Amino acid sequence: MLKDNYDAVAKKVKDACERAGRSADEVTIIAVSKTKPLSDIVELQQYGVMDFGENKVQELCAKYEEIEKPVRWHLIGHLQTNKVKYIVDKVELIHSVDSLKLAKQISKEALKKKVTVPILIQVNVAQEETKFGLETEEVMALISEAAKLPNIKIKGLMTIAPFVDDPEDNRQYFRMLKQLFVDIGAKNFDNVDMTILSMGMTNDYEVAVEEGATMVRVGTGIFGARNYNI
Ligand SMILES: *Cc1c(COP(=O)(O)O)cnc(C)c1O
Repeated sequence: MLKDNYDAVAKKVKDACERAGRSADEVTIIAVSKTKPLSDIVELQQYGVMDFGENKVQELCAKYEEIEKPVRWHLIGHLQTNKVKYIVDKVELIHSVDSLKLAKQISKEALKKKVTVPILIQVNVAQEETKFGLETEEVMALISEAAKLPNIKIKGLMTIAPFVDDPEDNRQYFRMLKQLFVDIGAKNFDNVDMTILSMGMTNDYEVAVEEGATMVRVGTGIFGARNYNI
């Protein structure tokens, strides 16, 4: 059943790519497994799914320890500086860097563990008060500073769009993030490699792909509804 859900998402991504004149292999689907059991991840691994997203450090670390086959783990949730040390050597990509302080901490811990950590800068394009992420105007300044830090590599931008009934309402935000992504890329900062645009969730990933997403983060659409009460 998980396989059917995943395939349906992949098909929609492919169709959205076609509508936008893009190739489907430009888009990576991150299966957001937060709150879901390890057995769900193992099941999808059997079908070749490699990229999984978690929003909590503790849950990511627990699953990391238990799973047998390696996974490309994506940390997609808010990251506190005091937890950075637990994950720098476990993750493929940190999607949610929203301050210079956090970038510095990742750099410091990565240096200690002798790894280089790819990161995305989280932007609150819709300026929602309830969401983490930088204001659009702050992004360029943060990137020019963070780019100088050792053992991190800035790979792109991420946003969490508002929860809306009609995904078309988020098209404007995806377009804004894409434009910012292009503008930053054009600056050719050293140590910045603008190749990843992480945007789109279950409700709006098709629109995000049409607007240029290279990673979509899909939880409910693959694993079903989450139950936070267990
Ligand atoms: C939970 C989560 C997702 C996936 O949400 P769905 O609506 O279930 O697809 C994507 N991105 C982030 C940052 C999340 O926390």
